Amino acid sequence: MEQSYTNFLETIVCAEEPETLLIDSFFVFFELFKKKNINRVQIWESVSEPKENSVYYEYCGDEPLSMLKFRVPVLPENIKNYLENDTVWEFENITLEALNRFNINSLIACEVCLNKKNNAFLVVASKNKNLNFTLEEKKLLLKLKKLLAKEYLKTEKQYKSSDEIKRLQEQNNHLREQDRLRVNLINNISHELRTPLASILGFSNMLVTKQLDAFSVKDVAEQIHQAAKRLSTLITDFLHINKADSEGWSLNLEMCDIGELIKQSIEEFSRLYKEYKITYHILENYPIIKTDPRLIRQVLDNLVSNAIKYSLVGSSIIVTLDITQDNKELKISVTDQGIGINKEELSKIFDRFYRSNNPEVQKVTGSGLGLAICKEIVVALNGKIEAESELNKGSKFSFTLPITEPSAGIL
Ligand code: ADP
Repeated sequence: MEQSYTNFLETIVCAEEPETLLIDSFFVFFELFKKKNINRVQIWESVSEPKENSVYYEYCGDEPLSMLKFRVPVLPENIKNYLENDTVWEFENITLEALNRFNINSLIACEVCLNKKNNAFLVVASKNKNLNFTLEEKKLLLKLKKLLAKEYLKTEKQYKSSDEIKRLQEQNNHLREQDRLRVNLINNISHELRTPLASILGFSNMLVTKQLDAFSVKDVAEQIHQAAKRLSTLITDFLHINKADSEGWSLNLEMCDIGELIKQSIEEFSRLYKEYKITYHILENYPIIKTDPRLIRQVLDNLVSNAIKYSLVGSSIIVTLDITQDNKELKISVTDQGIGINKEELSKIFDRFYRSNNPEVQKVTGSGLGLAICKEIVVALNGKIEAESELNKGSKFSFTLPITEPSAGIL
């Protein structure tokens, strides 16, 4: 008995969570009352309206602590023992169906305060009828419940405050990460802006200080124009990503016909880039989904624009609309026959500012932010984006959008 009691003390002071404290201490209760054929240790909560008890936590030996809820009547007044200013209820031959069906035929119980709102009972139950708990056992129950209540309240308080500390730490880490991203973004953007700006300054200086023939003037003007275009793309993408970083992507969700969006985008690109064969293939009977059409157009246009940028004139670009096998998502893919991307770079292209070292890429204007923006938008819309590619063969960029809302209509 002494050894088990010491075990109990050791167990409850070590517990870090209130739930663990209960599990561990109930386990020791079993040991301490082994002689009496204990089959359950329970916590009953007193319910005031209607006046009865609700069996709450239960440990019955082999299985882990369970939380159950069944009601039993209040304990009768007449079977009380008053011990050391406390009360122990004692039932030797229970005839309550609510308890008998759980094989509870005898029990001793005492009031225990586990939280400030509810009073509860700590119940040690046995399947044996006519059990005669000794005075020593009843005193032990009272002693244990005092320790249990004290440690439970202490552990609960510590647990709650450690939970709060964890939450604050997470919030702090998140803010730090935001700050780091912002500083990175500013550093990167300043670096990226310098290159086209240097070109503009250098070439315009040539126009001002040198006597150039008409042919050279045109060439220099073209260089300035390209650098200014790059500057403009960088600034637009930068403003976009900066706004999203500080405010998140503000979504304007509405019922949206993705097939129509694809058709509109392809028609506009085909008109501008007649030298490419830009087509679409849209499955029949696709659902209308709730999403943000403006942001979807932005992703789509970015992918088609990349397909054009990184393909040779005359090659084909096809945009497809499909539904995933589990019928849970729409899948939009943009496939080109362009320069492709090697395996090592494929994992980096969605990173901010990543641009391939491939000279074919370097000679085209870009900020390295387009795919990062696409990814952020798709993720904000609960979708996924991925790329498959083979160097010198072509690439396929696909993104999915969930069909969560019941479709407003089938086309
Ligand atoms: P960029 O402004 O450089 O186009 P993106 O973020 O849109 O920036 O793309 C990042 C990089 O991914 C590009 O620089 C290029 O190396 C690669 N990339 C994107 N789309 C394609 C494509 N369709 N074919 C080949 N490479 C591509």
